[in-house]
Amino acid sequence: MSIIEEIEKYAKENDIPIMQKEGIEFLTNYIKENNIKTILEIGTAIGYSAIKMALGDPKIKVVTIEKDEKMYQEAIKNISDFGLDKRITVIYADALNINIEEKFNMIFIDGAKGQYIKFFEKYQNNLKRKGVIVTDNMNFYGLVKRKDPILSKSLNSLVNKIRDYRNFLEKNPNFTTKFYDVGDGIAISIKK
Ligand code: SAH
Ligand code: MG
Repeated sequence: MSIIEEIEKYAKENDIPIMQKEGIEFLTNYIKENNIKTILEIGTAIGYSAIKMALGDPKIKVVTIEKDEKMYQEAIKNISDFGLDKRITVIYADALNINIEEKFNMIFIDGAKGQYIKFFEKYQNNLKRKGVIVTDNMNFYGLVKRKDPILSKSLNSLVNKIRDYRNFLEKNPNFTTKFYDVGDGIAISIKK
């Protein structure tokens, strides 16, 4: 088994919501086609998407933020297994409690789904000119489009937050957003 396959297996066994295969493939292609070299990721988990993005081109640099200590440790280990320590910087912090000065070509939002608007509003300031904000889980496992009621209250509240975020993106005057039905749904918001 390759190291990547081992990470995928670990994620599956431990219920870690890493990007779906078609989703990460779509994202890495987008990064290549648009010559994106600097990426800020919110929500590292075990480093899977950061590693996949960095492997696309030796010039790509990723800064990624993770608030869970166990995830952070696992990410550090996986990134070092790939020898990517110099190109992927993992910050152990809650993304809403820190300030980053650096500006990036791309911000990838993949943290807590209830906080997407907060992540977007805070980190849009870290985008370079013509930068792009990519958001994962826009379909939330098919629940966003479902019309029948969802029984659990907390789940319902999360689904509504994703719906609110989709509206927020559609109405945002500073960005043009397209939604792609790939993986768990990906939004690409290009700064005007
Ligand atoms: N991008 C990863 C998956 C991330 S899963 C991949 O595809 O491989 C979401 C992760 O975001 C979890 O590990 C969770 O701990 C982290 N997270 C959620 N809210 C966060 C926040 N406010 N700041 C930093 N990390 C956060
Ligand atoms: Mg995700």
